[in-house]
Amino acid sequence: MTAAASHIARKRFGQNFLSDPDIISRIVAAVRPRPGETLVEIGPGLGALTAPLIQALGHLHAVEIDRDLIARLHQRYLPAQLTIHEGDALKFDFATLCPAGQGTIRVVGNLPYNISTPLLFHLASYAERVSDMTFMLQKEVVMRMVADPGTEEYGRLSVMLQYRFRMGWLFDVPPEAFRPAPRIMSSIVRMAPRPPGECTATNEELLEKIVAAAFGQRRKTLRNTLKDYLDEADFTALGLDSGLRGERLSVAEFVAIANYCDRGTSLGSFSSATSRVG
Ligand code: SAM
Repeated sequence: MTAAASHIARKRFGQNFLSDPDIISRIVAAVRPRPGETLVEIGPGLGALTAPLIQALGHLHAVEIDRDLIARLHQRYLPAQLTIHEGDALKFDFATLCPAGQGTIRVVGNLPYNISTPLLFHLASYAERVSDMTFMLQKEVVMRMVADPGTEEYGRLSVMLQYRFRMGWLFDVPPEAFRPAPRIMSSIVRMAPRPPGECTATNEELLEKIVAAAFGQRRKTLRNTLKDYLDEADFTALGLDSGLRGERLSVAEFVAIANYCDRGTSLGSFSSATSRVG
């Protein structure tokens, strides 16, 4: 009996294990692990990616919630090869892997799809400690992450992640590559933090609130969705059309609105004050 056959996949942990060797090789090739790097895998599962990553790196960190899988991994790998952080990746403090001023970490994972959005927001808070992240997610989520303004997929997830990261879709992975096969198509996405100062909100909490308000009621115009933040004179000062919907605004335009509200003063014309990001 194979290891995969003797473990019953747990739906509540989003367990769809990679079983296609070509896809596994393509993902590892895309990550390009190099010896000496601090790399953490989220959800190693039965080790499809773990094994080639350890082979390339020598040592790997992993965060896994399923105790049965953790026991298997402990049997298979020495502590010198694999450090397992037992628990919920949503609560894991990734900063413990790279204390301030001591380099950056790389993050990899075939992520549990049931927690993908909160996990991405949790990871976004560590952007300063990360050099890059390569993930497998539902294709639909990846399309939202990398979406351009004006498209149906563009929304809060696109703006808040594109604010912190440059992101690129790498390739699709069909359901047949997994055991059990999910019902949906998956994609690989790479995320790399934007250089500091490229497009910075002076108050990130305010940016989050404004973006949430702008996309809270997608069909309404900015005049309605942002009425708690901007009046008509403010839109004019920013050089923005209040009759637009939130999905038309670039990341830089959202940042300009947040910075304008944070200062509580007119900044003059938007178009001369900002440039498009993303
Ligand atoms: N990496 C393996 C592969 O590609 O075959 C398994 C991927 S499977 C889609 C997701 C993995 O994440 C499982 O091992 C699951 O137990 C683990 N997992 C689910 N929820 C988790 C959480 N909140 N924190 C950490 N790991 C989690």
